[in-house]
Amino acid sequence: MLKGLGVDAKAVRLPEHLDEIDGIILPGGESTTIGKLMIVYGLHEILQKKIAAGVPVWGTCAGLILLARETDNALAGQPLLASMDIRVRRNAFGSQRESFETDLSVPALGEAPFHTFFIRGPLVEQAGPEVEVLATLDDGTIVAVREGTLLGTAFHPEVSGDTRFHQYFLRIVQSVKR
Ligand code: GLN
Repeated sequence: MLKGLGVDAKAVRLPEHLDEIDGIILPGGESTTIGKLMIVYGLHEILQKKIAAGVPVWGTCAGLILLARETDNALAGQPLLASMDIRVRRNAFGSQRESFETDLSVPALGEAPFHTFFIRGPLVEQAGPEVEVLATLDDGTIVAVREGTLLGTAFHPEVSGDTRFHQYFLRIVQSVKR
């Protein structure tokens, strides 16, 4: 998605890959596994430092869990970056079989609905006063948030081919890039 938008994107697996990075996407996957590997590979501390220095970070699905200050059902010892003032609930919509697609209204992206995919995603149970809610499901469940240069989505915005969320994040990156 990023390369299609002309971004010089690369996969980050080791701390040195973070040199000269203007923005970071924490992808979907398993937040427990990603969290443990972040510690093993020395990425946890450096990511926290980058976030504190204002580097934009977007967490999707498992990535959103990693950005959260708290999860209501973390496995024992699950490392979080604890950078967004939100509490999330993991696997909030059920198992893989309960994965679903839906059209979301996201005013920050314009009028057209954003078609997206929830794949064993989390939901945001609580959001602090500095957190902007970008999208909710019809029942009010919070599924997209922004706090300063941090962005979080409970779903997979890369599946439908609609690039508007990626462009939104790139605008955040551009706004802090010096
Ligand atoms: N269920 C996963 C978790 O708890 C997230 C799933 C995903 O990223 N699609 O980390």
